[in-house]
Amino acid sequence: ARLLKVKLDYLLARMRRVGMTQEASYDYILTSDYAALLAEDLGFSPTVDDEAAFDIHPPPPHPNFQSLPHRPPIVTIMGHVDHGKTTLLDTLRSSSVAKGEAGGITQHIGAFSVPVLGRDDEDGPRSITFLDTPGHAAFSAMRARGADVTDIVILVVAADDGIMPQTKEVINLLRKEDSKIQLIVAINKIDKPGANPESIKKALLAEGIQLEEYGGDIPAVLVSGLTGEGLPELVETISAVAEIQELRAEQDGPVYGHVLESNFHKGLGPVATVLVQRGCLKVGTRIISGLCQGKVRRMTDSNGKAVHSALPGMAVTVSGWKALPKAGDDVLQGSEGDIKRALSNRAKKAEIENLQDDIDAINLARRQERDARSEGLDALHVLECTEPKELKLVIKADVSGSCEALEAALHGIGNNIAVSKVISATVGDITESDVLMAKAANATILGFSVSVPRSIQNIAAQNGVPIFTSNVIYRLIEDVRSRLIALLPVTV
Ligand code: GDP
Repeated sequence: ARLLKVKLDYLLARMRRVGMTQEASYDYILTSDYAALLAEDLGFSPTVDDEAAFDIHPPPPHPNFQSLPHRPPIVTIMGHVDHGKTTLLDTLRSSSVAKGEAGGITQHIGAFSVPVLGRDDEDGPRSITFLDTPGHAAFSAMRARGADVTDIVILVVAADDGIMPQTKEVINLLRKEDSKIQLIVAINKIDKPGANPESIKKALLAEGIQLEEYGGDIPAVLVSGLTGEGLPELVETISAVAEIQELRAEQDGPVYGHVLESNFHKGLGPVATVLVQRGCLKVGTRIISGLCQGKVRRMTDSNGKAVHSALPGMAVTVSGWKALPKAGDDVLQGSEGDIKRALSNRAKKAEIENLQDDIDAINLARRQERDARSEGLDALHVLECTEPKELKLVIKADVSGSCEALEAALHGIGNNIAVSKVISATVGDITESDVLMAKAANATILGFSVSVPRSIQNIAAQNGVPIFTSNVIYRLIEDVRSRLIALLPVTV
């Protein structure tokens, strides 16, 4: 009622009058169809956004979380440049290769797994997954999209240096979020003669980092990425923190994960590293990520070993994609039909977002044009007096949402010499009456995601009515622009 700008009683009465007796109660949740009918009845032209209904979503939270098996914690290493992140990761990574495994060469795939020794009980993780996606950029990009892939952040601070700008950045990043991410401080380079871990701890306290030994809850571990000193303690600390965090996930059921990185591989085509967070990813599974789909053809772990399935906490390279997925996008599983439907809905959404950018650009251009015109009014006086040539348009679109969007985008493109004018915008395939109307008005027909039967094409050709159709909105915009340019007088 508030959105429709009427009193609730009025709305309820109106609903009863049109036969919605059961629905006419203040706490009844209307279907989108009924809500749209009512809005139309009250003079609005609503758009039903069904896009979410046709997408694939992660499975709902498990009803009995405590019964699920533990999963490895996902750990990201951050800190100031040169404080030793890469060295630390390299040393940790080398312990990820199972001892005695011949030719175990680790490959950079965006993540690797380190076993937690002496972990045979059921209480904690048996391995830790380290993300080695370079820098903060990927981390921030995923956070920006609300993808909390990381459970623990290791803040590396060099013991011979101190709190530096990027150290503070990390602290602020974690402080700002109401996140569940746990911080562990690794005071690095303790092998160096100038190392002074105590002064680092004091400096951290001054930054508001409540270290455990001062009564807080943030552990600090002294390490040397170079010599490996302190790394077993670091791994043990991560494992203890993870145990408190209660990290659990389904090991069966549909997969949910995120793309860590992706690239084109000569023989395999598009390949993406997928971090599995819930469920099980298997060879042969149909998956969707962003606007890409695929059927898992080949999976390998960070040791380059082929695997048939991947459980939560595992990162695997996946081939079998039809296009290159984007780092940070989520990965979901579905049937062929569900994925097809989700893709077409996502594509539409992306197009409307692009279109919004186009509309903004057009509006900006118009504003600038107007400003320029009012400044140079005298100079342009002659031109202002002549009527601009009009490019008349008849728009046909597949759904009302795109129809409105197109009308907004295509109306009024141009300048004071030639300008586009939408004379009709409706939903549905192009019909004979559209052609006849366009002929009468001397208009061009533009179709978005609609079809033109052969017979209609013939009628249009006979009547000299141009028809242009596309499934890509900016192509339609381009078409209008080029038709407008054709209307401009030839300048000498
Ligand atoms: P990043 O920029 O944080 O990734 O730092 P790097 O891992 O590239 O390390 C920067 C420099 O510090 C390199 O010259 C490393 O060899 C050195 N370094 C890293 N860790 C240690 C350490 O634990 N002890 C010593 N002595 N040098 C280290």
